[in-house]
Amino acid sequence: MELRLKDSFFIITVSILLLLYLYKLLLKKNITIFKTIKIDDHFFIFTGIIILLITFILSSKSKLTLYTNYNYINKSSQQIISPIENVQSEDIEDTYGAPRPNGRVHEGIDIFAPYGAPIHNVIDGTIIYKGRDNLGGNVIKILGEDNRIYYYAHLSGYGKIEQGKDVIKNQVIGFIGKSGNAHATPPHLHFEIMEIHWLFPLSFGTINPYPELIEAIDSKIVKYVN
Ligand SMILES: [Zn+2]
Repeated sequence: MELRLKDSFFIITVSILLLLYLYKLLLKKNITIFKTIKIDDHFFIFTGIIILLITFILSSKSKLTLYTNYNYINKSSQQIISPIENVQSEDIEDTYGAPRPNGRVHEGIDIFAPYGAPIHNVIDGTIIYKGRDNLGGNVIKILGEDNRIYYYAHLSGYGKIEQGKDVIKNQVIGFIGKSGNAHATPPHLHFEIMEIHWLFPLSFGTINPYPELIEAIDSKIVKYVN
């Protein structure tokens, strides 16, 4: 069973319309409690709230995609795969939380691989963002079936993917590169996992993906597609 935001929007809209209709009926029957506030005031408040809500949700396309595809009920716990084929666990360093310039910390794990090597999607999900980012260069954000956000950065190019569309585990979503602030380092994928704390307003934080990555690499059960 799934309950996504677009379904709840439909339910809410129908409920509001029904309530307005009921309100009109009550007004006709001259029930005094409903006559203390003029319909104009109600209409004003109602429209204001709707406009605020729509503005908030539409403030970014990626946020809208996230909201409409977030699955409230069915939080799957499928295991991730390694985004890069032929990577050994001993080649990956746990640099999550390591200091970075300008007081930042490293919020992900870097996986070094040859320039242009394919990057595979680690979990079934939906592309919530495909585009540029100051530090990340060419990036992808995917909302996983497990309701976490997966962030891939420094790509040289993209696979056959589209923002707003679903992607399956193992699918090639992009290629290793040096875009963003990785221009001076060897080509690598910067990989992050974010957990959503609050959906409204959206609040999330990164977790250390290192243990899951190592487990994924060591399990070696994946047959990579190209
Ligand atoms: Zn990094």
